[in-house]
Amino acid sequence: MADPTATVCPRCAHQTVELVFTSPVPGVWDVLQCGRCLYMWRTSEPERRTRRHAYPEAFRMTAEDIRSASEVPAVPPLRTS
Ligand SMILES: [Zn+2]
Repeated sequence: MADPTATVCPRCAHQTVELVFTSPVPGVWDVLQCGRCLYMWRTSEPERRTRRHAYPEAFRMTAEDIRSASEVPAVPPLRTS
């Protein structure tokens, strides 16, 4: 069982991680979510998805990265034929 209070976000290293869901068979896996960048992972995934030290550097984020992230573009109006 994961202890969310002992876990940091693999992507942004934030220390507030929430337990979102647990496996139907108790104790097999948990789903955790970062309170800052909203990254979500299942504890049974490999270390490169679940541990900060193994998370690919190219995808790591800092608080500054999140603050300055560009806005998701709006969906343009539908084309008329
Ligand atoms: Zn995060």
